[in-house]
Amino acid sequence: MSLRTDAVNHVSHGNVNSVDIKGAKITGVFGENVFTQKTAREYLSDEAYKSLVASIKGGKKIDRQVAGQIASGMRAWAESKGVTHYTHWFQPLTGSTAEKHDSFFTLKGDGTAIEEFEGAALIQQEPDASSFPNGGLRATFEARGYTAWDPSSPPFIIEIGNGKTLCIPTIFIAYTGESLDYKAPLMKAVESLNKAAVTVCNYFDKNVTKVTPTLGWEQEYFVIDEALVNARPDLVQCGRTVFGFTPAKGQQLEDHYFGSIPERVYAFMRDFENESYKLGIPLRTRHNEVAPAQFECAPIFEEVNIAVDHNILLMDVMTRVAKRHRLVVLLHEKPFAGINGSGKHNNWSLATDTGVNLLAPGKTPKTNLMFLTFFVNTIKAVHDYADILRASIASASNDFRLGANEAPPAIISVFVGEYLTKVLNDVETRVGTKFDEQDEAILKIDLHRSIPELLIDNTDRNRTSPFAFTGNKFEFRAVGSTANCALPMTILNTIVADTLNKFAAEVDALIEKGDKKEIAIMQVIQKYIVSSKKILFEGDGYSEAWHKEAEKRGLPNLKTTPVALDAMVTEKAKKLFVENRIYTHSELEARHEIELEKYIKKVQIEARIMGDLATNHIIPASIKYQNVLLKNVSLLREASLPEKLYKGQLTLLKDVSTHIQEVYDNVHEMVEARKVANNISDTREKAIAYEAKVKAQYFDKIRYHVDKLEQLVDDELWTLPKYRELLFLR
Ligand code: ADP
Ligand code: MG
Repeated sequence: MSLRTDAVNHVSHGNVNSVDIKGAKITGVFGENVFTQKTAREYLSDEAYKSLVASIKGGKKIDRQVAGQIASGMRAWAESKGVTHYTHWFQPLTGSTAEKHDSFFTLKGDGTAIEEFEGAALIQQEPDASSFPNGGLRATFEARGYTAWDPSSPPFIIEIGNGKTLCIPTIFIAYTGESLDYKAPLMKAVESLNKAAVTVCNYFDKNVTKVTPTLGWEQEYFVIDEALVNARPDLVQCGRTVFGFTPAKGQQLEDHYFGSIPERVYAFMRDFENESYKLGIPLRTRHNEVAPAQFECAPIFEEVNIAVDHNILLMDVMTRVAKRHRLVVLLHEKPFAGINGSGKHNNWSLATDTGVNLLAPGKTPKTNLMFLTFFVNTIKAVHDYADILRASIASASNDFRLGANEAPPAIISVFVGEYLTKVLNDVETRVGTKFDEQDEAILKIDLHRSIPELLIDNTDRNRTSPFAFTGNKFEFRAVGSTANCALPMTILNTIVADTLNKFAAEVDALIEKGDKKEIAIMQVIQKYIVSSKKILFEGDGYSEAWHKEAEKRGLPNLKTTPVALDAMVTEKAKKLFVENRIYTHSELEARHEIELEKYIKKVQIEARIMGDLATNHIIPASIKYQNVLLKNVSLLREASLPEKLYKGQLTLLKDVSTHIQEVYDNVHEMVEARKVANNISDTREKAIAYEAKVKAQYFDKIRYHVDKLEQLVDDELWTLPKYRELLFLR
């Protein structure tokens, strides 16, 4: 029996894994594995608690001695929950998370065994980090980097089986000061945005002292039976199928979207949700997605720093919990050709410490003007830095999705809806007419009344937009499902901070010249609307017409990662990131290098998998069938039957033989193309060669012939589970 038949049988005999989840309220378990401020209050002295809160709220440094107290409080709490080990938890540039566990257990000089957790161990660790990507930032001979505690993200306990580990969220930096992870730059961007936004808020409200970006992500994923996945080396090794003929029934009936959730998947969802609640991840919604076997979950939004941690933690939890249900979660952007891919919408807004959402239209003329200010500045930021925003979501796997007519195109544009387009036009038509007192009437646009209209407008058409305003937040929809949100969020917050700083400078200059504050603000808003108009687009982002129109407007349309990444190292990018203190030149160069290398490796692995599968699965199965046909034809011939009675077999034989030969030739040519690419020393050139000369040249071609063979060869001989099995059996 082949692995495939075995797997298919296994699925039909599989049972729903009923998990023992207390039927109790979510609030009963929520955050039970998190060292929340409430827990801290219980386990820490007054001094330690105050110091911790000051650090969480205001970024105040915690001194070593107090850190010692905090560490022992944390240990006491963790031990009360059965924890034996701790780890610094960080997000290196590999894209996943890293941890190295140490036990609390130690031996003292005299041999006494004790458990301890010292302040120093909480604050700083030195993982042997030489094998994390660093883009040349740390020469290997001094492969020293350290992880530093980030008190703004609370420690949590990860449970694996009966083992429990205390995880301390940290940032990861080189001894020379450069950041080696996704978190440190994000925190800098958040701070930079805070400063800029508070300055601008203070034109309207002097009470605002802090502005925090908020993030609510929506995670899409596929769930496939584990036995079936194990019989597909491509899914095991690259998280996507490199071959597979689209089944007779795919998603054309649209019967999966919002349909009832299959029982086995439902049990899995409840299980991972429960684990997530314990970790304080505020999951709120779950539903089926468009493609068969595709689902989505989304939490209540949080401060961006926490939301980023929670998303990456969730991806990890989902992957682990799926195993208990003999399922596999696919987070890849495009696991199946011809079927929708997965994204991770990043809903983003700005919240003040006075409780105002700066992207929610206000109730009074004054709050409306504040809304308009942040709304227009965001549009202007996306306009000015569209190329950098595009680069922030570039990856080998997202390349399969962007522009594939189910996800936004690679062209960055902003959707604001009919009503706000009208408002922007209203403001714009006053260009040139100098504002005087009467023009203050424009400040009285009643945005609030129009919210229902806004929301109606936002139901469907904006699905094709990469960056859409959805009533009280912007939704960055081009982010890939495997991505760490930290990178796109670092970029978005930086470009908005930069734009707000320039905005404030222009407003101040006008005020200095004698303009009234509101008039000055309105004038700069007007100017920004005019200068960023070309980024606004309300139509169908999938259409050919938009691609032409975008080209006319001069909007970049970079479809592949190796060239999209260029935007990270232009003079413009260097100026932006250095002035806002997010990345230094060398950090930018290093990150550029790392992303290119990741791209190369991903394509390389997929190319190898294609070769392996073609050689070890596709060709052997096809040859077996070719032999069956050959034998059949020769027996028919021996029996002296007229050839017109086995014309079909002859055609089949010819077709099967042709496709076998094509697969064989193309796989060998692709190997040669890889060798050529491997000899290129410049990383960017090498990535481009992998894209153009390996991937674009051969992937689709090889797949075409393999998928033809899948349709021709006897089903019993075919060894790889087919799409209809992967997507519909559970
Ligand atoms: P959708 O129609 O896209 O499902 P929802 O209202 O359900 O819209 O919101 C989707 C996501 O947006 C959720 O994660 C939600 O928490 C988040 N969200 C809502 N308001 C904000 C905000 N002010 N800032 C950031 N995210 C937000
Ligand atoms: Mg949404």
